Amino acid sequence: MPGDSRPVGGPGLKQVRRIVTEIPGPRSREQLARQRGLVPAGVGAALPVFVEAAGGGVVVDADGNSFIDFGSGIAVTTVGNSAPAVAERAAAQLRRFTHTCFLVNPYASYLDVCEKLNALAPVPGEKRTLLVNSGAEAVENAVKVARAATGRPAVVVFDHAFHGRTLLTMTLTAKNRPYKHGFGPFAPEVHRAPMAYPYRWPTGPEHCAEEAADALEDLLDRQVGADNAAAVVVEPIQGEGGFIVPAPGFLPRVAEICRARGILLIADEVQTGIARTGRMFACEHEGVQPDLITAAKGLAGGLPLGAVTGRAELMDAVPAGGLGGTFSGNPVACEAALGVFAEIEANDLVERALEIGDTMLDRLTDLSDAHPVIGDVRGRGAMIAVELVEPFGTRVPAPDLAGRIARRCHAEGLLVLTAGSHSNVLRFLPPLSISDALLEEGLSILGEAVAKEAAFAV
Ligand SMILES: *Cc1c(COP(=O)(O)O)cnc(C)c1O
Repeated sequence: MPGDSRPVGGPGLKQVRRIVTEIPGPRSREQLARQRGLVPAGVGAALPVFVEAAGGGVVVDADGNSFIDFGSGIAVTTVGNSAPAVAERAAAQLRRFTHTCFLVNPYASYLDVCEKLNALAPVPGEKRTLLVNSGAEAVENAVKVARAATGRPAVVVFDHAFHGRTLLTMTLTAKNRPYKHGFGPFAPEVHRAPMAYPYRWPTGPEHCAEEAADALEDLLDRQVGADNAAAVVVEPIQGEGGFIVPAPGFLPRVAEICRARGILLIADEVQTGIARTGRMFACEHEGVQPDLITAAKGLAGGLPLGAVTGRAELMDAVPAGGLGGTFSGNPVACEAALGVFAEIEANDLVERALEIGDTMLDRLTDLSDAHPVIGDVRGRGAMIAVELVEPFGTRVPAPDLAGRIARRCHAEGLLVLTAGSHSNVLRFLPPLSISDALLEEGLSILGEAVAKEAAFAV
């Protein structure tokens, strides 16, 4: 816009933490008051500061506060906000054409994204990719494909799962409030198995993988009936459920159980996918090869794009017209996704995710040694969390403490998010473009916030 004086984002943005008002500041509070009269109350905000610019490792608000970003818009701006290759490719596409509908007139950038995902996804054999608009839509389409390809109705999911907010995907999601309460009746033919959650496994972490896999086997064979089951849907690291890394060996067993019964394995990598965990897809950490894999959050650098990549014979089981949508695979979003892949390759971001993970795990393990309210430290790559518990060694979840630490971090200029079935998990998802200095500074702020709030907790 001519005369537009709003700040420019991207990596050129000054990489500093700066808090100049209370949080939220007066300008954000003014907008928040507007929001209450315009937007339904069901749309919440983790940190209601209104953003003016973001990039590198910071988010700058309307009051001039600059926050260290440990959220990436929920694992979306993995390559950084307004990353150069994303912004340039998307802007160039905006000038060429904004939409034709791929179902009306196709364009090559859609195919370029599919070619990339087919090459990168750890799905065996020949592959096909479908593009959609969101994570929920990706999961929903993966289930549609699995049902069409197997001719079976049932879907099995896990405790603590999050798969989206549409009717089918909220049914797949475990947590009642806020995701499901009041929204029933739910979709039929959804069954739930225990997740191999090492920290909270009743007989101890050493039995976790085996007993959880046995429970899945029992559910399939004795309750669902294996030949009624189209698919098992699993997040290789659970996201909203609290960054639960399944006990080692669990995912390979799940894959084996599925294979032996002709049940398809759908890996929901909407949060874990696209370099976030130090692999392009988190399944690779354990060499698991799902039949279908979903991606969305980190895929297009903030533009809405989701994908299902699957074995060709499964994906091709749906006749023409059965898949797709008006906006699906929008050309601007496709160019943005190609920009994301370019940023990952040019900057070695898969490796960078591992480095960030090592730094975070080191510092957070020290913090948990000093403060028993941190019951567990877990995650992979740039997807790390701490689980907060009461300070008596009982593992009783401490959601209020988690909330207080998050608010203290926000007031000090560190953007963190909560998660978990008990809302007692603090999760850290920095953009991979964050500097070491900001990463260290953010971890120090977190450490101080934990120390202060833990002192109140005892
Ligand atoms: C966020 C998320 C979804 C839903 O994605 P939306 O784009 O919000 O619909 C699905 N699965 C997982 C694992 C997620 O983290």
